[in-house]
Amino acid sequence: MPELPEVETVRRGLAELVAPNDFIKTVRVHRRDLRFPVPFRFEQSLAGQKIVGFRRRAKYLLWELDRGVFLSHLGMTGTWRRNPSNSKLHDHLELQLGSGDRFVYNDPRRFGFVDYLEKPDWEDSKWFRHLGPEPIDRSRFTGDHLYQRSRGKSTSLKAFLMDQRNVVGVGNIYASEALFLAGLRPTRKAGRLTKAQALSLVEEVHAVIQKAIEAGGTTLKDFRQAGGETGYFQQQLHVYGREGEACGVCAVAIENVTITGRSSFFCPNCQS
Ligand SMILES: [Zn+2]
Repeated sequence: MPELPEVETVRRGLAELVAPNDFIKTVRVHRRDLRFPVPFRFEQSLAGQKIVGFRRRAKYLLWELDRGVFLSHLGMTGTWRRNPSNSKLHDHLELQLGSGDRFVYNDPRRFGFVDYLEKPDWEDSKWFRHLGPEPIDRSRFTGDHLYQRSRGKSTSLKAFLMDQRNVVGVGNIYASEALFLAGLRPTRKAGRLTKAQALSLVEEVHAVIQKAIEAGGTTLKDFRQAGGETGYFQQQLHVYGREGEACGVCAVAIENVTITGRSSFFCPNCQS
């Protein structure tokens, strides 16, 4: 499933592949029952609009147009291809651009979806309203922000970190790795976080996500096959998926606890 860094990789790929001043000529929808139905008059809304650029918010990929924003969520298996030589099963959506380029959205499991949001209020839409800051946004995702959000919370630190209202896009792997690097146990109560620990955690989350984005950038050349290959598998993982193995820092065996139904890996010696 594409995580925030992979969606960012796709965004960068699209930004490189679409020429400045290109526009959407026509839209063809082959299947309307994606995770949510393709909106009524979606094709007409997009057609004729200039592509201003590409943005991302959490895991939402955003084609910014003249008059609105075309939102594409990749779900679990969504990918975009440019000028594919042949059509495939599960090609649900096609954009024909003014330049002659064609972009095709494929999604076998159909957990992805699309929407069209009018400017200028698109950021207040239901998709974004409740989202916390981006993990790489230095001005909004700060130690103070995390500290204030955690006050009075009895939830585990890991669940707290994976709650989109506190910060977006910190998936299971990233949460586990950042908590290890900050020396904090995933089971610790969020409300017990000190200011210094909150700051340290913010720094580690930032670093882990940033590194994954940079690793994702190396897969850009495979963009046409992908949304696919992920940044984090190319990274050295300290604890994630390494239950029973020796911690790289202290050699004590990595443990695994289940928190809100998810495997949570930690070093019982390095993290307290
Ligand atoms: Zn250790």
